[in-house]
Amino acid sequence: MENNIKEKILRVAREISKGGNNVVFTGAGISTESGIPDFRSKGGIWDKYRPVYFDEFMSSKAARTEYWKMKEELYPDLIKAKPNPAHMAVAGLHKMGLIEAIITQNIDGLHQDSGIPSEQVIELHGNTRRARCTGCQKIISLDEVHRRIEQGDSAPECECGGYLKSDTISFGQAMPVDEVEKATALSRNADVFMVIGSTLLVHPAAEMPAYATKNGAFLVIVNLSETPYDDATDVLIQGKAGQILPEITREVRRLKC
Ligand code: NAD
Repeated sequence: MENNIKEKILRVAREISKGGNNVVFTGAGISTESGIPDFRSKGGIWDKYRPVYFDEFMSSKAARTEYWKMKEELYPDLIKAKPNPAHMAVAGLHKMGLIEAIITQNIDGLHQDSGIPSEQVIELHGNTRRARCTGCQKIISLDEVHRRIEQGDSAPECECGGYLKSDTISFGQAMPVDEVEKATALSRNADVFMVIGSTLLVHPAAEMPAYATKNGAFLVIVNLSETPYDDATDVLIQGKAGQILPEITREVRRLKC
């Protein structure tokens, strides 16, 4: 590992080990090493599919069929995905009492699988392991929807007549009010705000680092590609989350000994 990166890791570890309100913000990039593709990298989901907007989903069976076709393609990767060393490193920091909460754009549930209690994972875009009826709001498991699609029902409906949709936020769909409020408050209050694996292009999630820096947070970004916040960071590490995060946690452990 380059000396420059080692130095950056040490700076981040020093800030985190001070304690305080440390917040981790994650995007699809933290889960690529678990086998779940991100959206915007080359070969990512948007290279193959276009997003189905919420109003299309609600008004057209063809759009609902297209939507579930994309979800079905992701299903095998999703059900076998396990937390990777980056998720586990964040969980390690949390176990040491150094992370107040995780704000995530991810819908894969891997932070919870890494051992972080659900109430400390703020899911801004929902969770794709379950489906919700757009009518009566009943929740059913993704496995159940998957079974129905395999049996030939290309756009499953609820018994109430509503449409079954992954319990995630589509383009054009309202954001969950409570989660956005919680995430905003956590960001405003953060001492260290660490972004991992996000292009920081999807709003309003991408506004969280701005709330944090406005109040003087120490901003860290660990990401493979550029983000609009790169010039505003205290520490920018362009590298793989699964390599960098375990190093940060190791350094923090060493400093806390
Ligand atoms: P994105 O696809 O826009 O960007 C991912 C970023 O992560 C890119 O900048 C990429 O360079 C970086 N990256 C990829 N692999 C990395 C690695 N190993 N280490 C470090 N960085 C890495 O993702 P986004 O900003 O989260 O926005 C996409 C939206 O899509 C989100 O709203 C999210 O809801 C959804 N999404 C979620 C999942 C998931 O839950 N795993 C997967 C795909 C998309």
